[in-house]
This record gives sequence, C-alpha cells and structure tokens, in this order.
Amino acid sequence: MNIILFGAPGAGKGTQANFLINEFDLTQISTGDMLRNSVESRTELGKQVESFMASGDLVPDNIIFSLITERLNDIDMKKGFIFDGFPRNLKQAQKLDEIINSININLDFVFHIDVDEKILTSRIENRAKQEKITRKDDTSEVLIERLKVYNRDTKPVLDHYANQNILNVIDGMGTIDEVSSNISTIIKKDFKVD
Ligand code: ADP
Repeated sequence: MNIILFGAPGAGKGTQANFLINEFDLTQISTGDMLRNSVESRTELGKQVESFMASGDLVPDNIIFSLITERLNDIDMKKGFIFDGFPRNLKQAQKLDEIINSININLDFVFHIDVDEKILTSRIENRAKQEKITRKDDTSEVLIERLKVYNRDTKPVLDHYANQNILNVIDGMGTIDEVSSNISTIIKKDFKVD
C-alpha cells in the first residue's frame, strides 16, 4: 500500500505519518527529514539547501529529484511506503507519476489533512512561542512563510490527485486520535490489510 500525505505546516502531518508507519508497517520517505539530515551532517548537499530551508522556501526541484531517486533505489519497493512532504509542487507531482509508472507501482491513497487557516496560524504562533523550538524553521516568521509557500505551490497539487480520484480530505481539526482513526477507517474500507 502506497500513500502520500499532505498537510500545511501545523496540520499534524508528521504525527499522522508516524502513526501510519507503525499501524501499516510502511517505509517513510520524508524529504524534510532527508534534507535536515544532510544539513546536520554538513554534506555538500546540506550546505546547498540550508538557506532555502531556513527561509521557508522550497529547495530546488533538481536537488529533491536526486534525493528521491537515491532513496527509492535503496528501499524495498514491495513494502508499502508513505511520502511525507513530497511532492510539493506540480513539477514534483509529475515527476512522481513518471517514477511510479516506470517501476510499475500504484499510489493507493492521497490524504490531505485539512485544517482551517485561522487554526493553523494560531497553532503556528503557539508552536513558535514554546521555549524549546526544536527546528530552526519553526519561528513564527518562517512558519508564516512556509504556510504561504504551501498555499501557493503545494495546494494546487491536491487537484492533480483529485483528478486521479485518489484524494481523501481528512478533517484535521479533531484530536490526534480522531484524525488517525478517520484515516485508518478509509484505508481499511478500501484496502485489504493482512
Ligand atoms: P513541514 O511540512 O512541516 O513544513 P518538512 O519537514 O516537510 O516540513 O519540510 C521542511 C523544509 O524542507 C521545507 O520548508 C522546504 O524548505 C524543504 N523541503 C522538504 N521537502 C521538500 C520538497 N519536496 N521540495 C522542496 N523543498 C522541500
């Protein structure tokens, strides 16, 4: 079973990704985690992407494509996977279609964890106010920029998957458990999990 997870910053995408990975034994492909690892380990790639991430902008597509291709070579594609944070614009969605067609696999579910913009903004402000900011790009200013980029570049990708009839919009305003259970209900209804 292969899944893509969408959610604006503050929508709880990371939390739900972790839930799904454990619940359905999926391999996670998180471009955000991969990029943060390369920044932390000071690789050439890390140095190239650091400033984009720090300002809340998208990292250039060619860098993302080589990261994804490398990662997909490394993993067992027969085990299901979850894309978290990719694709983030239409070019990336088209690239993913190509990859998927070339290796003969299907996308089964695309979930959009939908949270009202006002709630997102207040979550973002609270997150930034907490004393222990664990991510450099979690300051209020950068989060607002990430939200802007999400609305401008990433939201249009949802239509791409709505047109393929695999988009599921999930109300992201309930508790963490409610959101998880809404997602797994859809999966269990449509997909036979052993
Ligand atoms: P979130 O979804 O919480 O904003 P991520 O961990 O997915 O955070 O991404 C953090 C940052 O990494 C983004 O703001 C962006 O700079 C970069 N990034 C992650 N994935 C991609 C991608 N697919 N394309 C371009 N940039 C990306």
